[in-house]
Amino acid sequence: MLIQTKQLKKTYTTGELVVPVLHGIDLSIDTGEFVAIMGPSGSGKSTLMHILSFLDTLSEGQYLFNGEDVSTLEADQLSEMRNKSIGFVFQSFNLLPRTSVYENVALPLLYSRDKSRGQDDVIAAIEAVGLTHRKDNLSNQLSGGEKQRVAIARAIVNDPDIVFADEPTGNLDSKTGNEIMQILQDLNDEGRTVIMVTHEQDTADHAKRIVRLRDGVIELSSKVMKRRFAREGELKK
Ligand code: ADP
Ligand code: MG
Repeated sequence: MLIQTKQLKKTYTTGELVVPVLHGIDLSIDTGEFVAIMGPSGSGKSTLMHILSFLDTLSEGQYLFNGEDVSTLEADQLSEMRNKSIGFVFQSFNLLPRTSVYENVALPLLYSRDKSRGQDDVIAAIEAVGLTHRKDNLSNQLSGGEKQRVAIARAIVNDPDIVFADEPTGNLDSKTGNEIMQILQDLNDEGRTVIMVTHEQDTADHAKRIVRLRDGVIELSSKVMKRRFAREGELKK
């Protein structure tokens, strides 16, 4: 099992204020899966993604990554594993402004200990998202869809096993959103595990499995296959 959580809980404490967010998540994700996490705003989707991608820590319970208990790992082991295995696409793109596409995509290589990756990998990642012709443009000269492509290229430049995407189509029109979903689907077809948050059913239907969160617990986990065929059937009528 690639990812396994056991009664994972998360509580934020800010001064006197204690906010319980995740109330005991049992979730298992295998290598090669494409999972969509859905749920109302504030249900803890981003919090869960951040914990699974080592950006945040859990409060109680267990997180096993490749069978290893994440809480036993030192900070530098975690950041090394994160660099090597995980790419994260943020909803708000998080690109450096007034900085070229190339430099934005190359950024993770600066933080990586693996010095075997370089210019060729940056160019390959930019090509994988169809932005070769924009390589030298500044990020603030790009459309929303192009910015999201840069964010994906940056997430895959280290050749990660898992790509996390938090509402990757949330700020895009539906045509551009579909193009972005096609890229994520291609990454999954290549064998990468994709874990995505969305609150749009159409976007979630690109995944192979949907996990629904409500009030910090998993309400439902279901395979998408049947529904996708049903929808295609509907369209043919
Ligand atoms: P979602 O992504 O499903 O909309 P989030 O995971 O962003 O939900 O947030 C879930 C809840 O946790 C919200 O009530 C939010 O206010 C709270 N929360 C998120 N991050 C923090 C934080 N760093 N400190 C305190 N509360 C937080
Ligand atoms: Mg969120």
